[in-house]
Amino acid sequence: MSVGLVQIKRGREKPIRNRHPWIYSGAIAHAESAVDGELVTVVDHKNRFLARGCWNSKSQIQARIMTWHDEPVDDAWWRRMLQRAIKERAGADAGELSARRLVNAENDFMPGLIIDRYADWHVLVAQTLFIDKRKERIVDALAAVSGADKIYERSDIDARAKEGLQPAAGALRGGAPPSLIDIEENGVCFGVDIRGGHKTGFYLDQRDNRRALAELANRIREGAQAKPRLLNLFSYSGGFAVSAGGTGGIHSINVDSSYAALELAEANFKRNGCDPDRRGDAVELIQADAFDYLRHCLDERLTFDMIVLDPPKFAGSKAHVQRAARGYKNLNLNACKLLKEGGYLMTFSCSGVITRDLFQKIVFGALVDSGREAQVVAQLGAAADHPVALTFPEGEYLKGLLLRVY
Ligand code: SAH
Repeated sequence: MSVGLVQIKRGREKPIRNRHPWIYSGAIAHAESAVDGELVTVVDHKNRFLARGCWNSKSQIQARIMTWHDEPVDDAWWRRMLQRAIKERAGADAGELSARRLVNAENDFMPGLIIDRYADWHVLVAQTLFIDKRKERIVDALAAVSGADKIYERSDIDARAKEGLQPAAGALRGGAPPSLIDIEENGVCFGVDIRGGHKTGFYLDQRDNRRALAELANRIREGAQAKPRLLNLFSYSGGFAVSAGGTGGIHSINVDSSYAALELAEANFKRNGCDPDRRGDAVELIQADAFDYLRHCLDERLTFDMIVLDPPKFAGSKAHVQRAARGYKNLNLNACKLLKEGGYLMTFSCSGVITRDLFQKIVFGALVDSGREAQVVAQLGAAADHPVALTFPEGEYLKGLLLRVY
């Protein structure tokens, strides 16, 4: 198939030369023989080569750059790129049951493609039409470079609608996956539901932060008379609390609006020798709205040594930034009020459009309104298997703060 041509308006080529991978319609002078879901060559106003990308006229991001070199994006290219991304993660593997993000889309210079690995299962997300059309070939390339023979698709994401695509999920290789796949993270076992769980099954990006919370819980436990109390809001499958006290060392209250998420959490606690049904194990699983539950805690005058706030994405686009900011502020304000003197708040935003700077300002505002004081103990982000391309600031979606609150 011949490759279409996309010419960029004079003066609009700078972001492309600076290796930002997205081209919006406003930057495009004209497109010739460009076919949705196929490759295009991108040139400047003097017809000089800039990049090679994939085209989708239905998307606001009309082209995503696959390479800045004048080279084919063929099976050999996929094998080379996958090999590079996977090799980089291999050193970090912690054994057979480990789980990793292997391909982080734009940040691994493979726009639109996510691949996560859970033990011997791989989960693929095709975010764009270009990737969707090639998923069989990408699966072949993945099998060739890593020997993957169990591959499941979880392209049931809202973002596909922007590409004119329906949600898609199902087996690509190796048949139906088991209902739960065992993984190990920081010495803790989790069961991951790659078919029905959120995203690809687990929030791998929070791995380092779960470990940091576990270390913090250990420190608080030393010399404490009672079990440290953790309020784990937006708990999903229990990740933070299981890591910090899966063997019963803390009292945790886990709150999520989803019953299915709490069932996964219960199984994860049990897997690590801690039974929510045994009173002494001090694990509470509560199906509630986190905003309401915080108000309930205030009414009941409950206090905590640690609070984790890990809400879903509140802002999907710039239009929602203000509304999202109000949500973050409300949560952080009430959380600050509930902490014991010297207690810790681990607070996150995974909205790509909320910058780290803005997030810190929102938390600052919440803190001041709560009448408390705080120190930033650590700036938090996604684990190293979620690298961010330096030329793609949008890739830094997860940002967080660990605060000590007085
Ligand atoms: N901390 C988790 C990931 C959290 S993902 C981990 O480490 O694995 C966000 C979670 O928030 C999801 O499980 C979702 O079900 C839940 N959620 C979304 N809106 C909510 C609300 N208003 N109140 C409580 N939980 C909510």
